[in-house]
Amino acid sequence: MSLLVFLFCFSLFLGVNTKPYEADAPSCGYDACPEADPSALNVHIVPHSHDDVGWLKTLDQYYFQDVQNVISSVIVALKLNPERRFVQVETAFFKLWWSRQNDIIKEAVQNLVNNGQLEFINGAWSMNDEAAVHYQSTIDQFTLGLRYIEDNLGRCARPKVGWQIDPFGHSREQASISAQLGFDSMFFARLDYRDKNRRMDDKTMDLLWRGSANLGNNADIFTSVLYQHYSAPGGFCFDIVCNDEVIIDDEEDPDYNLEKRVGEFADQMRDRAEHYPTNNILVTMGDDFRYEAAMTTYMNLDLLIKGFDLFEQTYNDKRIKVFYSTPSCYTKAVNDYVNSNNYNLELKTDDFFPYADGTNTYWTGYFTSRATSKHFERQGNNLLQVSKQLAANAQGSYDNEQINTLKEAVGVMQHHDAITGTEKQHVANNYYLRLSRGMQSAADAAGQVLSNLITGDDTNLEFDSCLLANVSACTQTESDTFTVAVYNPLSRTQTAIVTLPVFDQQNYQIRDPDDNDVPYQLDASLTDFSYVENARTSQTTLQFAAKDLPPLGFKVYRFSAADKQPKSNPLLKKTPNLSVGYEETSFEISEQTGLLESITMNGVTLQVTQDFQYYTSQNSSGAYIFVPVETDPSRVAGGPITTTLVSGDVSQGVLQEFGSWARQFIKVYNDDKSYIEFDWIVGPLDISDGVGKEVVSKFSTPLETNGQFYTDSNGREVLQRTRNSRPDYDYTDEQPVAGNYYPVTSKIVIEDDDVEFAVLTDRSQGGSSINDGEVELMVHRACQHDDGRGVGENLNEQEFGDGIRVRGKHFLVLGPKGGNGDKSIAAVERDVAQRKLLSPWTFVTKQVDNLNNLQFSGLKNSLPDNVQILTLEPWSENTLLFRLEHVLENGEDDNLSQEVTVDVSDLFTLFSITELKETTLGANMLLEENVRLSWPGSSTTDDQVEKRDVDDLTVTLQPMQIRTFLATVSYN
Ligand SMILES: [Zn+2]
Repeated sequence: MSLLVFLFCFSLFLGVNTKPYEADAPSCGYDACPEADPSALNVHIVPHSHDDVGWLKTLDQYYFQDVQNVISSVIVALKLNPERRFVQVETAFFKLWWSRQNDIIKEAVQNLVNNGQLEFINGAWSMNDEAAVHYQSTIDQFTLGLRYIEDNLGRCARPKVGWQIDPFGHSREQASISAQLGFDSMFFARLDYRDKNRRMDDKTMDLLWRGSANLGNNADIFTSVLYQHYSAPGGFCFDIVCNDEVIIDDEEDPDYNLEKRVGEFADQMRDRAEHYPTNNILVTMGDDFRYEAAMTTYMNLDLLIKGFDLFEQTYNDKRIKVFYSTPSCYTKAVNDYVNSNNYNLELKTDDFFPYADGTNTYWTGYFTSRATSKHFERQGNNLLQVSKQLAANAQGSYDNEQINTLKEAVGVMQHHDAITGTEKQHVANNYYLRLSRGMQSAADAAGQVLSNLITGDDTNLEFDSCLLANVSACTQTESDTFTVAVYNPLSRTQTAIVTLPVFDQQNYQIRDPDDNDVPYQLDASLTDFSYVENARTSQTTLQFAAKDLPPLGFKVYRFSAADKQPKSNPLLKKTPNLSVGYEETSFEISEQTGLLESITMNGVTLQVTQDFQYYTSQNSSGAYIFVPVETDPSRVAGGPITTTLVSGDVSQGVLQEFGSWARQFIKVYNDDKSYIEFDWIVGPLDISDGVGKEVVSKFSTPLETNGQFYTDSNGREVLQRTRNSRPDYDYTDEQPVAGNYYPVTSKIVIEDDDVEFAVLTDRSQGGSSINDGEVELMVHRACQHDDGRGVGENLNEQEFGDGIRVRGKHFLVLGPKGGNGDKSIAAVERDVAQRKLLSPWTFVTKQVDNLNNLQFSGLKNSLPDNVQILTLEPWSENTLLFRLEHVLENGEDDNLSQEVTVDVSDLFTLFSITELKETTLGANMLLEENVRLSWPGSSTTDDQVEKRDVDDLTVTLQPMQIRTFLATVSYN
């Protein structure tokens, strides 16, 4: 291959824009690291600024008021001394800055990157939270950020380090993802105070973390816990916002202090060295939004470093060597040490949840805080996948602004003060604005592709996504005739229940693509939504089953108002004491209490009650922290609750009213009996009595669970939890409720010897099993006080002049541990979780003409039940980003937990894949270029190459494996 052709291919892969500036030859990566001295105590000074993409200010306020000053000022300071270093983290901010710079500055930045002075770390769009995020969105937002860095600054800017210094506890899935991105290490600051104390004592602040129970050492990653948050050492903040004693090196000056200051710094370094296993320690020199006037810090650090040359300091007879460094250079130095000393770092296999920074301050409230925004974010992801898939089918471009607006908005939502709900209210409003604009534009893009596929020409059917359907509003369904297209983003056929508000209680004729009449059901809306301003809300909800939706495809349903008389009282029928549902799946409601009494599924009948209850908040309960007054929550309903039977052709169910501020439908669907649905609405929470309220949906069973329960990690692998216990340190149960709360991204499970009981969620929530046989999920919270962790507002969301109401769903799955004869219960849960994460997206239009293609399948065949296309999106001309994932863990199902092979050569209907190039998880480098450091106790690189072959476009996946490809495609 000629050099010219090679360069052309290379730039195609990277998607690099031609750079208008010249840059020095690169000497970046570990080669550019300052040399650590094996005989010294090496102190790695790491200048950094922690820039939240929204918290107390909005993203734009932070950028224009602070962050642009930080980056510009750092660049100048770095140019003045080649020893100085800085790490750049949040790509959302970097894009705002880079896009405003001229070529002279861009060239200077490129040179600083190429010589290792400016190092990009993490590199994701935001520094994502690790409790409430779903792995699909974490991977997406890394992909987005890493692509931007690669396109604009090239391979010297590729991050090698995870930098999760502020998130409030750490998930094992984040470790796994970081390893699969090709990172060599990750750094963080927040872990349980007892865990930290233990690690300080044991010198295990540096450790090896096994991110996956399925992927072996491919998911191992070196992990370092920062010594003192991510701040500068006490007394050594030289930032313009600090008042610490500056360094004066003029010996004639009466205030000369260089030697004294060197001694003081050395004392702190000696203390720190006691707690780390090698002859390296990392010192963060920064904090939130520092370096707006970077020179003040750098000039003092220059003097401090010089001072250690002038006044030698020692630790255990070793010289203390102080120098500018970066997290990756620290990683390399530790790696050199452990390899040459054959030192085995402690291996950790669980996670760092929950996080407590003191005796009674467990950061478990934010697992639920701003419960509606946690669902909004998940809808954003759902639509993002739909719009990317449709764009891929339509030969779309990576530079599609309509979709990129949503990609960026969803990336920002992953931030550890966004999806967490720990931002100020005006910042939350700004996030919602970004997300709703992004969803609108991506829905328009998706609607156009859908229109083209349906009409066969370029007509735009002007589809609307009816995003207010959850409050029973949708202007499109107000007409007598309308058209509904239901798109299925899963890689297999699925049946979905479509729910739409309808008006004036009309009868409809609904015709499916084959012109058959579709049965439907009209129910009263879950509640009276007339409090919603600026929207016409309906009292009636229509549901129908969209059966056998093709994979990555759609079906079109045509609605017309029917002339015939309304069905005999299609709304509520009041009936007491019941068994509700169908033979395979049913539940019973108690005549006395109106509560759920038992359920039957998969051949098992189990006594189950469910109730809404609430804890009252102590003063220290807030957006981050959960501190209940009592151990036993109070019931929302004082006495028996009102129940009403709701049944028809689509579902059998019951409406329950728990007093004035909680109600729910419990339903079983005729065409989908794999779960029982709990569709609830809670709020407004009245805290005018001066007491915060934190509401849970609690399920109680007689299962003997011995303190054990299971929660998922970011929607992927499942971790066992033991009440009042931690695997890594001695636990003291001063908070018997809050201390046992864990993040639940997709499900929480209990079991005994025979039966498995799972509750799946439609968003992230806090959950626990406080007593044996119980499962509780926190669904809503409002607090009277700020909890003193910086946000400075109490969490008490308002809308329409009242406390906010939260609507959501739980999906209950029950069965024998051995499975239902077809698949294991764990496999059923995986199936339901996926169908709820990537729900078929409903597009509605008043237009009824020109509907020429009423159904479409993007795949020629469904993929096997254990394989899913995790990502399909345009990447560059004739290239798609294509990720395949195995969605089960080892041992979850006898058949589905096996290795699986997929032939992708003849998979898609509108294009063929002609070549696959495998990349790391973030798609910013070819897998063959990925060489990770190896660690004693883990041989990361060896296994990785194994099992990675792609033969004849067939891809083999191990349980929980994700494989990322750039797929060259040829469109029909
Ligand atoms: Zn932060």
